[in-house]
Amino acid sequence: ATKDIRKAQQPVTEEVAHVLRTLGVPDSSWRNGTRPVRSPITGEVVAHVAEASARDVAHAVDRSIAAFEAWRTVPAPRRGELVRLLGEELRAHKAELGRLVTLEAGKIVSEGLGEVQEMIDICDFAVGLSRQLYGLTIASERPGHRMMESWHPVGPVGIITAFNFPVAVWSWNAALALVCGDSVLWKPSEKTPLTALAVQALFERAAVAFGGAPEGLSQLLVGGAEVGAALTDDTRVPVISATGSTRMGRIVGERVARRFGRSILELGGNNAAIVCPSADLDLALRGIAFAAMGTAGQRCTTLRRLIVNEGVYETLIPRLARAYGSVGIGDPREAGTLIGPLIDAAAYEGMQKALAEARAAGARIHGGERVLAAEWPDAYYVRPALVEIDSQIDIVKHETFAPILYVLRCAGLPEAIKLHNAVPQGLSSSIFTNDLREAETFLSAEGSDCGIANVNIGPSGAEIGGAFGGEKETGGGRESGSDAWKAYMRRATNTINYSRALPLAQGVSFDI
Ligand code: NAD
Repeated sequence: ATKDIRKAQQPVTEEVAHVLRTLGVPDSSWRNGTRPVRSPITGEVVAHVAEASARDVAHAVDRSIAAFEAWRTVPAPRRGELVRLLGEELRAHKAELGRLVTLEAGKIVSEGLGEVQEMIDICDFAVGLSRQLYGLTIASERPGHRMMESWHPVGPVGIITAFNFPVAVWSWNAALALVCGDSVLWKPSEKTPLTALAVQALFERAAVAFGGAPEGLSQLLVGGAEVGAALTDDTRVPVISATGSTRMGRIVGERVARRFGRSILELGGNNAAIVCPSADLDLALRGIAFAAMGTAGQRCTTLRRLIVNEGVYETLIPRLARAYGSVGIGDPREAGTLIGPLIDAAAYEGMQKALAEARAAGARIHGGERVLAAEWPDAYYVRPALVEIDSQIDIVKHETFAPILYVLRCAGLPEAIKLHNAVPQGLSSSIFTNDLREAETFLSAEGSDCGIANVNIGPSGAEIGGAFGGEKETGGGRESGSDAWKAYMRRATNTINYSRALPLAQGVSFDI
């Protein structure tokens, strides 16, 4: 261990129990269940949660439909009041919930808090939205007629989430769905059920403060893939919003489509940044470091490919390699730690396998080795890996959910954009340049093919105000800001005849 390796100071299990109790989570939901929950900080089992069965899922959907039928008639601005109260609960418990994100998902303290702030932000957004669920009025071709679009609540929304944003992703979906008049059913990641239990407790407090929210409006279904599958297959759940791997999305997307349900898929990314000769390299270095190493490379928007113009390669890459070699790794609760643990052993093995493939292809690898293994054999800390590689081989086109940054050299912007788009995923992207033509080309129709394209900031760390999501194998879904709310409602087109005649569209005559 070197000076940049940080060890745990306090026991994890006791702290988890303390935080859960502070947040009002009943002991019965996490003490004596069948499913063990580990903290990635030390790898120890910190709780045993109770799991839902397929019958529990069916019963929860019954309750969710009853809740929906009542909730859809509550005026939208009043529905917004419940989400406002949820935001207040989150504000009041930001420190504890953020801490639990750190303990259960291994995020550093400021990122744990940031995740809760993101929940607060989307609640604020949704409260405003509750008075802005606008439809259009449309010019009718017929005299004495008016056309309009109405947006109506759609029904129970199933929300399946990933471990790496254990609470924020629920809120992107739930805050919008609730103001839209829907009920929600949440299947959190089996790796992070404790933060979900805590959010459910906060929601229930908000519902009590609201007074008169239907019972079962927001329900939690703890369990593994089989619980997610039961929800996915229930024809009474019109919308399934699923966040996770492309492997999962391929299954869920197909099953929902087969029953003509609607899915919102937020799947894997393989995000790149292009560094041009005119780039501000100090700024680029900081942007790259956060995007590639932050959250130990476990964000869907993590920077995984760096495409560097040969003119600045020799200046930028040695500096980046130094940053990689000195970054603080270890207990995410410790001040100065920037890189916490990987979620589990499988994540570590996936990382080593990818590095072995890159090495076999002749790549030059800085870092990537395991640290703190002697102290915590069941926890997986790694030094982030910077991998200089000559071409975009298969492993580079694959999302490995760990801190690996592949660095590719390019000669000019057309080559850079070609490399950039030549992967199956299409989530987030960025360019570092001070050349207006390059920046605008990257954002244009012939530039980045991703759902998110940035200039002079990295690809990760989105704000809630924009629509979030990506193309190709990322699944095509959009959540959070802009007009993403439309996915949680059904659209009705209405034509109203206020004349005494009955003209038919397209001049069709049908006289009886
Ligand atoms: P995962 O795919 O292993 O699991 C995600 C969720 O899907 C879990 O709740 C899991 O239980 C459930 N699930 C798995 N198989 C299922 C099935 N057959 N039917 C129904 N549900 C099923 O993903 P993970 O390891 O938790 O998360 C990491 C992945 O998530 C990465 O690929 C990352 O890029 C992606 N992700 C994407 C976004 C985005 O917005 N695009 C955000 C966060 C994470």
